[in-house]
Amino acid sequence: MTVTVATLGFPRIGPKRELKFALESHWAGKTDAPTLLATAAELRAKTWARQAALGVAHVPSNDFSLYDHVLDTSVMVGAIPPLYGWTGGPIDTAAYFAMARGTQGSSGEEACAHGHAHSHGHGLPAMEMTKWFDTNYHYLAPEVSRDQAFALSSTKPVDEFLEAKALGVHTRPVLLGPVTFLKLAKTKDEDFSPLSLLSALIPVYAEVLTRLQRAGADWVQIDEPCLALDLTEFERGELRRAYGALSHAVPGLRLMLTSYFGGYGDNLSTAVNLPIDGLHIDLARAPEELDRVLSASREGLVLSLGVIDGRNVWRANLPALLDRLDPIVSKRGGDRVILAPSCSLLHSPVDLELETGIDPEVRQWLAFAVQKIEELVILAAALNQGRPSVAGHLAASQVAAEARRTSPKIHDAAVAARLAAMTPAMAKRTSAFGRRQAIQIPRLDLPAFPTTTIGSFPQTEDVRKARSAHGKGELSDADYATFLREETARTVAWQEEIGLDVLVHGEFERNDMVQYFGEQLSGFVFTKHGWVQSYGSRCVRPPILYGDVSRPAPMTVEWWRYAQSLTDKPMKGMLTGPVTILNWSFVRDDVPRSLACRQIALAIRDEVVDLETAGAKVIQIDEAALREGLPLRRGDWGAYLDWAVECFRLTASGVADHTQIHTHMCYSEFNDIIAAIGAMDADVISIETARSKMELLDAFEAYAYPAEIGPGVYDIHSPRVPAVEEMTDLLKAAQTRLSSGQLWVNPDCGLKTRKWPETRAALINMVEAARIVRQATGVA
Ligand code: GLN
Ligand code: ZN
Repeated sequence: MTVTVATLGFPRIGPKRELKFALESHWAGKTDAPTLLATAAELRAKTWARQAALGVAHVPSNDFSLYDHVLDTSVMVGAIPPLYGWTGGPIDTAAYFAMARGTQGSSGEEACAHGHAHSHGHGLPAMEMTKWFDTNYHYLAPEVSRDQAFALSSTKPVDEFLEAKALGVHTRPVLLGPVTFLKLAKTKDEDFSPLSLLSALIPVYAEVLTRLQRAGADWVQIDEPCLALDLTEFERGELRRAYGALSHAVPGLRLMLTSYFGGYGDNLSTAVNLPIDGLHIDLARAPEELDRVLSASREGLVLSLGVIDGRNVWRANLPALLDRLDPIVSKRGGDRVILAPSCSLLHSPVDLELETGIDPEVRQWLAFAVQKIEELVILAAALNQGRPSVAGHLAASQVAAEARRTSPKIHDAAVAARLAAMTPAMAKRTSAFGRRQAIQIPRLDLPAFPTTTIGSFPQTEDVRKARSAHGKGELSDADYATFLREETARTVAWQEEIGLDVLVHGEFERNDMVQYFGEQLSGFVFTKHGWVQSYGSRCVRPPILYGDVSRPAPMTVEWWRYAQSLTDKPMKGMLTGPVTILNWSFVRDDVPRSLACRQIALAIRDEVVDLETAGAKVIQIDEAALREGLPLRRGDWGAYLDWAVECFRLTASGVADHTQIHTHMCYSEFNDIIAAIGAMDADVISIETARSKMELLDAFEAYAYPAEIGPGVYDIHSPRVPAVEEMTDLLKAAQTRLSSGQLWVNPDCGLKTRKWPETRAALINMVEAARIVRQATGVA
């Protein structure tokens, strides 16, 4: 009658990003496929051994992937788009990577300033990549057609089960469930829903399950995170149909159904009544759901309680968790309770042991993947053998929780006082947009269709080398500053020379648009090895927001002042907005996200005001991640957008009417949030629109968006230089939807991932396109 521990998935990339380096060396042609596969097998072996040694009873297999587990699933079921010329049979690594990254080698894949992938090019394009639920992990969207046939085309789940078995580890294989798989699938066919392929897909899943059972598996984990989304009655019926068929096909094999990133909500009764043997609940996101699950589920159902937060980095308060778990275990029986992280640990950094540089006080509050497993094992031991058996661990956990709760490092009375003194007026500009515009136009004296860029200029090898040398102490502060000043001066002079209207300094001093600010604000720490997979071999190291946020000193004013001193044209002040800083960080779990965001907003507001005082007439506040913070359930959108918009306004509203506030968002699906975008009340917004050929302006037209807009006229994710005519065509398309007086001319996003030659050529063409359109419109 013992409580056991499961993990739903472990980071694949390796404690020191071993997989990343193996992949990149293979892609660069330096190592062959067998070498890469050997490294991958070694990583799997270590991961299994490590989890088993820590005391995990249900160690996952098939959670590993060379690139992405959704792509693996497409390959498993033989959903390979025709484009890749597959004619059946096993899919080799070359074909696999062609789907993942296109066939242009390293230039087949481009990342925008924050690791969001795009593909393009002349060889085979990569499959479409999009964000995995509300995480910063990106998956390759399955692509299916109306007459899609499925066939078992990869035995990876079985192979990896047997591989672990040979190493002495009995694993619980993980599959992405058929309903979620089809819900994530895209199609080019009209009037066709991928979910209608379910009947064709089920036999392939049945075959995989049968083979797993034959190989010796007793439990299989099937992930259906679509259960955390809004589902239709039809979709719920399809879940019942799918699991009815699968349980029928493989009697005796036990299915653990998981969903995560939220509660089941109105899908709960569907979930608990499926013919499954176990059900996982994300108790980090939906702690209130536990009682409902307990009362709704039949007695024999094994419950996997996701009590440790797999999406954040905080150490748990174990005695407090035990107080909740004790009655459940005594009532249900230990063998019907499994303890688990709330979701796969894919979204968590690997091992806190490697972080020797973090402030020790903050460090004792943290837990990465390995530490989260240790916590689960301690909880299970306390439940099975009694709390005294792990008394020392429990006491340490409680001491850390108490220290964190009361630490002066976290709680800053001045920040609290400032928040308490906040008034609604602080989130409002003095006058409405129309009046502000009337004041800004003569002050800025810009031509019609003013030209500008989004902020960053190429981060060349030289820039990266200098930054890294400075970081290692090989380049003095003074020499590094001189280097950055020279880069900035050259960039400013060049912008002037080609005739851009509103200039930028180029952001050469910034490593990353969030990290740069986090490092200068109080309340953040940074890790050395806290990498989390973003997609493929790309990893990010999110800042950790642990305490009250304030801004000890101006962060960008000196750079702005220097850049403005080099030109008479307006120089934009360039900041990252509070919602983006929040959404790209690990955040506190002891205060609501909205409160943490307000603190960041007040800190950035100080910077906005200081830039204005220094003389900046134009200030851009980037909110690249505002949209991706949208909750998974539509019903929660309003509350999120309310505080997100309020925080942006709080940041932007400390300035006089004559100061022009820009914002930038590097995406373009605005239809469903256009009212919130309007409510942000920026004077100018720049967005990504080139690839959609300005269709995305429809939302702004329909909403009668009153302020100014810079729809990106060229795609910065590719080195391709757009012709002048292409951009004039796009501007003309924009003119059919918006008035000429509203339009700005700029690229889709920052230029940091580009090289100088194509940047020069493209911007020269862009300035020419603006000139032509001015002339054609009679405003030149
Ligand atoms: N100002 C930033 C840059 O140009 C914006 C980047 C982004 O939106 N992702 O790099
Ligand atoms: Zn952008």
